[in-house]
Amino acid sequence: MKQGNIGVTTENIFPVIKKFLYSDHEIFIREIVSNAVDATQKLKTLAGKGDFKGEMGDLKIRVSIDKDAKTITVSDNGIGMTAEEIEKYINQIAFSGANDFLDKYKDDANAIIGHFGLGFYSSFMVSKQVDIITKSYQDAPAVKWSCDGSPSFTLEETEKAERGTDIVMHIDDDCKEFLEKDKLEGLLRKYCHFLPVPVAFGKKTEWKDGKQVDTDEDNIINNVEPLWTKKPADLKDEDYKEFYRHLFPMADEPLFWIHLNVDYPFNLTGILYFPKIKNNLDIQRNKIQLYCNQVFVTDAVEGIVPEFLTLLHGVIDSPDIPLNVSRSYLQSDANVKKISGYITKKVNDRLASIFKNEREDFEKKWDDIKIFIHYGLLTEEDYFDKAKAYFLLKDTEGKHYTLDEYQALIKDQQTNKDGQLVYLYANDPDAQYTYIDAAKQKGYNVLLMDGQLDAPLVGMLERKLEKTTFTRVDADVIDRLIQKEETQRDKLEAERSDKLSIVFRSQMPKKGEEGKASLWGGLEGADFNVEAQALGEDQLPVMMTQSEYMRRMKEMARLQPGMAFYGEMPDMYNIILNTDSPLIREVLEDCEKQTAEALKPIEAELRGLNARQAVLRQEQDKKKPEEITQEEKDDLKKCGEDIRAEQQKRDDVLKGYAEKNDRVHQLIDLALLQNGLLKGEALTRFVKRSVEMIK
Ligand code: ADP
Repeated sequence: MKQGNIGVTTENIFPVIKKFLYSDHEIFIREIVSNAVDATQKLKTLAGKGDFKGEMGDLKIRVSIDKDAKTITVSDNGIGMTAEEIEKYINQIAFSGANDFLDKYKDDANAIIGHFGLGFYSSFMVSKQVDIITKSYQDAPAVKWSCDGSPSFTLEETEKAERGTDIVMHIDDDCKEFLEKDKLEGLLRKYCHFLPVPVAFGKKTEWKDGKQVDTDEDNIINNVEPLWTKKPADLKDEDYKEFYRHLFPMADEPLFWIHLNVDYPFNLTGILYFPKIKNNLDIQRNKIQLYCNQVFVTDAVEGIVPEFLTLLHGVIDSPDIPLNVSRSYLQSDANVKKISGYITKKVNDRLASIFKNEREDFEKKWDDIKIFIHYGLLTEEDYFDKAKAYFLLKDTEGKHYTLDEYQALIKDQQTNKDGQLVYLYANDPDAQYTYIDAAKQKGYNVLLMDGQLDAPLVGMLERKLEKTTFTRVDADVIDRLIQKEETQRDKLEAERSDKLSIVFRSQMPKKGEEGKASLWGGLEGADFNVEAQALGEDQLPVMMTQSEYMRRMKEMARLQPGMAFYGEMPDMYNIILNTDSPLIREVLEDCEKQTAEALKPIEAELRGLNARQAVLRQEQDKKKPEEITQEEKDDLKKCGEDIRAEQQKRDDVLKGYAEKNDRVHQLIDLALLQNGLLKGEALTRFVKRSVEMIK
């Protein structure tokens, strides 16, 4: 029997392994089983070349637990090792600059293990002693190596009938959980699920006489020929779907998939599925599993797959991805960049080809696919040029258009006076029904943009498309939604319109009016801008709109912290009184009649004051600033103050009229109601008033 010290330069590598690799210590099973696979594959290679002429026998790898002995054993029938090979491959561990390295990568067990070829030693993360009992395929005696976690080991000849290696791990007391059958089977299924050599874990069980009993059949935990290793030409749709169900038993059927297969300039195979995403972006992430020669490595693929494609599901297998390095290194690795570019291109080609060849099907799936594409457009600057070929807009009638098609469709009707193409959209077709309807009547098309990423997408499209603006269909009254020419107001009409506006404005909830505002559930703090406008007789008497700009700013403020300023701005609404509506005309005429007497002296006074103000201004305009006397300045100032005082009197008269006028209140409430803004006590008052009116 031979005794010796393992060739490490550090005092003792085992405490290091335990300490630094603690968080990841379950990967020991992957490392030990992978070594068994390698030994088996090597034997097959030797046999293939004629260097091994003996019986191959059953090449299964067996994993077993002995609860009494507190051991886990991994056995293979591979090439085995001679005493010299143990000396060379197990005892001599190159361990230079170990401390520096361990410090740098202490959070990344994969890096440490890979860098030092410490795969085998990861068994010490869970074991207080490990034995190797091995018999080489060459004609040499079987040997037993044993090490108890200190740098010293023993090596002796032993009896072993079969060729191959048993790794016996004497599990530490604080790692007892790995001796549980379910726990270990779970880990085997996670890490060894697609290994190319069958791995047996005990026997299959069946129900017999009211309990589970072992059958004669091995419990094989892996699928040695996963779908991605096969040729696409040999596979049917059902095969892909079945494999998907196998990978993700809880998921809905995928929309479609892409079989990746490249061997130059790097090696990569895999299958990526477009899943049906329900709602939450986060839940679906990390559903791409990364393998290295069928050994599971990780399901965190950021850096390898472009960010927006991390929403896809599936598997990628590549021996060329440097798995054993840190994430930041990975992202700058040239191979990884190429791989990421390749995957993007493949996904892009596939989408383009489905769109071209199966447009109908593509349109049907668009609502499910669009989230990936929107996400890509928002996160990858150059994706737009690629996605243009198949990016679709959908209108409120359910028709789909490419960007080019849509431009052609709306060019004639929806170009404004500045030559801008105005894309109209709705994001809540029920709430915005009236506006959509009015736009359609006018011959406009309205897009449906109700996706979770549509709001930022609108901004992105405005940047990318020339001379294009997006306007939500309720951003203004229909005549002004797409302005074709400048409009002029006639002078007399303007005065009457102002009167009408004052009447209505006086009855809107006002900022800061505590008592009153609270009557309007949820509307306290909103700003209302009232204006009169001739909208045509067939339009509603009162409409409400919200400025596209302010609304967007507030929406963005909600998403982005730095924009709190906009978030605190009050909601701004425009109330538009349709002066073509008979009802509004009646209100105006009635108002003029009822207030004529009270307004007469005020208006006479105002006319006088306005005339005087005009004269004073004219006189002063002729002089140089220094020639104007203080007296003259005071005169003009006083005149302005008098005008404001008279205006206030006029406003009070109109307000007095409005306060007692049920029609005014009813019209305001109807406009609020149509926009879903009439709530709380205001709603109750409206209902009561309505009942009174129809009695
Ligand atoms: P790596 O696998 O990265 O080379 P390991 O520490 O896992 O590093 O293994 C070191 C060497 O020990 C392997 O390269 C192989 O030569 C030998 N070895 C480990 N396990 C076995 C086994 N089950 N059968 C035969 N040889 C083995």
